[in-house]
Amino acid sequence: MKNKPIEHIINREETVIAIHGLYKSFGELNVLNGIDLRLYRGENIAVLGKSGSGKSVLIKIIAGLLKPDQGEVIVLGKQVDQLQGKEMDALRLHIGFSFQNSALYDSMNVYQNLAFPLTMNIKNLSRKQVDYAVEEALDAVGLKDKIKELPAELSGGQRKRIGIARTLILKPEIMLYDEPTAGLDPISCAEINALIIEVQQRYKTSSVIITHDLTCAKNTCDRIAMLIDGKFFKVGKFDEIFSSDNKQVKDFFTYNFI
Ligand code: ADP
Ligand code: MG
Repeated sequence: MKNKPIEHIINREETVIAIHGLYKSFGELNVLNGIDLRLYRGENIAVLGKSGSGKSVLIKIIAGLLKPDQGEVIVLGKQVDQLQGKEMDALRLHIGFSFQNSALYDSMNVYQNLAFPLTMNIKNLSRKQVDYAVEEALDAVGLKDKIKELPAELSGGQRKRIGIARTLILKPEIMLYDEPTAGLDPISCAEINALIIEVQQRYKTSSVIITHDLTCAKNTCDRIAMLIDGKFFKVGKFDEIFSSDNKQVKDFFTYNFI
């Protein structure tokens, strides 16, 4: 597996996601209770936290799929909580969302799954341009030979990689990964972790990676954000969080290191 990306990829002069005082509840359930976060260009941040702690809600808010109750969420200079319609659609083109279940269309083959978001969002592309874009994205995930397969013919790890290729087709600046290694065997996990770094380097993406996989967090992310009771307990280097005395942090690390 590739090592962590070199520091110089990160540009600390440029913030791609800035979140201030973010709150989100569903009825009586307070999920996010004052989140602050800054993601620099080129950086990968892992969001860790128990099931149900609000990780998916957080990245859905970043992607503009859910509205916050309170707070400011600025993505690539745009205040997403205020954007609507076409402006939101335009921003979304720069955000790749890798869903937990890969969300591929079962009846479409790999080529069609990848071509679909491209032709939906960019009009008047020639067949040659679409073919080239599909091949480029498949090459990035190392699955050029699967172009004609149906999702059902792929392994779980391959489906994840095709799902990631589909988000890469629009050359996003930001990648949001929701549990990219969940349910995969250790070898497929390692392949996805290597791919996350490959994507960061090849596409110069900045990413938020929700994960339970501590190897993934340690090897693919520059900083870790630990979500506890709706807030980030700390955002820092893996070792800094790992060595914390906080009981909930300790429990999280103990139960996830099996
Ligand atoms: P996780 O950290 O496991 O990703 P989620 O962000 O999915 O957790 O969910 C956090 C909490 O918010 C959970 O209790 C979940 O049931 C609740 N929740 C998430 N989305 C909604 C929704 N659209 N409506 C009501 N409750 C929701
Ligand atoms: Mg989730």
